[in-house]
Amino acid sequence: MKQFVVIGLGRFGSSVATTLADNNYDVLAIDKDEERVQSISNKVTHAVEADATDEEALKTLGVRNFDVAVVSIGDNVSANILCTLILKELGVPYVIVKAPDTLHGKVLTKVGADRVVYPERDMGARIAHNLISSNVLDYIEFAPEYGVIEIIATDKMIGKTLKELEFRSKFNVNVMAIKRGENLNVSPGAGDKVLEGDRLVVMGKNESLESLKDYDE
Ligand code: ADP
Repeated sequence: MKQFVVIGLGRFGSSVATTLADNNYDVLAIDKDEERVQSISNKVTHAVEADATDEEALKTLGVRNFDVAVVSIGDNVSANILCTLILKELGVPYVIVKAPDTLHGKVLTKVGADRVVYPERDMGARIAHNLISSNVLDYIEFAPEYGVIEIIATDKMIGKTLKELEFRSKFNVNVMAIKRGENLNVSPGAGDKVLEGDRLVVMGKNESLESLKDYDE
């Protein structure tokens, strides 16, 4: 079972820590603010007050024995970077860091972050996609320029099989799943028919997804 250390218990860090703990993972939560540590202490395995830029303190806490570290010190850019550097130097195999923007993200990658996440930016994009088209229920960036969208079947899709819709040849996108009420078909085939109210989970290039979502022919 993987063990996690979460450093910086703002909204993001505390959400990560409590969700992992709710799923029965061992979580060490660290923050320099006593109140933040207190308020999470009964929800995670261990909660400790410490300065994330203090190498000795992190060593003493044994962070090197954890498989994954999540760093989210949003209110202090240099502490975010320094902590990431220390964790990698101590040998933590996988360090994920929250960054406010891509410039900051580049620095984090340079000092060794294994993954940089931009929750504000990504959530903004998801909401925007949702607002632009009433069909789009959700959007997730999968890789630069590629995404996964969940769309409600448009009138023109209803009653047609995936083969008849020709999404692959026309849009170069793949239907990964069809949601029908509570049922989820995770390996839809060419013969599967789209019904009214179905939700399609589709992966492809962003520009292809753009043209698909208002599918109207
Ligand atoms: P969010 O944007 O996710 O709400 P915040 O920026 O509000 O995150 O929270 C950052 C957290 O990091 C705060 O709880 C703060 O006390 C903590 N923090 C800031 N500097 C350090 C540090 N040097 N060591 C440990 N924790 C820190």
